Amino acid sequence: MKTSLEVIHYKTQKPIQLILEGERISKVIESDSNDNNIFLSPGLVDLQVNGFQGIDFNEDKFSEEDVITLTTHLWQVGVTSYMPTLITGSDQKISKAIKTIVNACSINALVDQSILGIHLEGPFISKEEGPRGAHPLEFVQEPNWDLFKSWQELAEGRIKLITLSPEWDKAVDFIERCAESGVKVAIGHTAANSLQIEAAVKAGASLSTHLGNAAHLMLARHPNYIWDQLAAEELWTSLIGDGFHLPNSVLKVFMKVKPNKTFLISDSTKFAGLTPGNYSSPIGGEIQLSSSGRLSMRHNPALLAGSASTLLHGINYLIQNDLARPDEAIDMASVKPFEYLSGAAQSTFTKGEKADFLVFEKKGSKIKLLQTIKSGEIVYSV
Ligand SMILES: [Zn+2]
Repeated sequence: MKTSLEVIHYKTQKPIQLILEGERISKVIESDSNDNNIFLSPGLVDLQVNGFQGIDFNEDKFSEEDVITLTTHLWQVGVTSYMPTLITGSDQKISKAIKTIVNACSINALVDQSILGIHLEGPFISKEEGPRGAHPLEFVQEPNWDLFKSWQELAEGRIKLITLSPEWDKAVDFIERCAESGVKVAIGHTAANSLQIEAAVKAGASLSTHLGNAAHLMLARHPNYIWDQLAAEELWTSLIGDGFHLPNSVLKVFMKVKPNKTFLISDSTKFAGLTPGNYSSPIGGEIQLSSSGRLSMRHNPALLAGSASTLLHGINYLIQNDLARPDEAIDMASVKPFEYLSGAAQSTFTKGEKADFLVFEKKGSKIKLLQTIKSGEIVYSV
């Protein structure tokens, strides 16, 4: 089946016509005029999704059906590819979660195509208060290659990214083995010193997970693990750009230091996409979700209780705060994370390319989603 899209290229601002055949672009035609205000960009890519709209990969009970439902909900906010993210938990809990995700992929082809791989965030992280964040202390452990290998077998090779702390003695050896086997390693939830970070980068670590968050409240002015990671040219950086996790000055500086190696993540929990109100969370306890999307502890609202944001919110936040142009903000939530994970820059709108798109209009300085297209199929429409 052929589909035709007459849109404006999000980057060049020029009108184009795309012909889609099946799941791919079969033809790109430069049009002369197009007076509609409909733009096309690549679909959004979220490398850190803990949960969304009431379903969480880190709760004991989630089913194959939940994975499918969660994926369809992500399509509704423009995400065409993502990584379910499993945090620190018991060995059995992680094994079970991996199995459920793999099963869901075998049931539904479009869900399979939407899941780029599993992001394992833990359990080989720091035990220290602050860097550990909300990860349960009792299950934090040193890097264990045999254990990881058993998870990777269960995952049928789908663990593509692991976040760990290089402060463990076994970290360098573990990182080297990951790098050899094609698994990307991120530094995060860490209290590592300068030498440990340097050694991790040398061993193949390539990303800083949500840099600036999951850190001590008080840090030595220098050196510290934030400066060390910022200064390491090899490291990409993922940021939670929701306006609550990092102040604008920090977002601005991080993006300036790594203009081509920064991307956005939502790091969303199951509270993202829910109506504002009071909730209780097995991880965070009694929490509240404000109308602006801020998730905090009910009895101490100064403390964040995770993220309830989406990539689309992050894009609009950067645009509205003059931190990025619309096309730059979109790239940071699509092309850039894809490039990090695949190791190759993504072309946009070329013949033969997979049709994973966001169709949107500009409302003031905001981007308003109109349609999400996954593998050539319209999976969401307003
Ligand atoms: Zn985290």
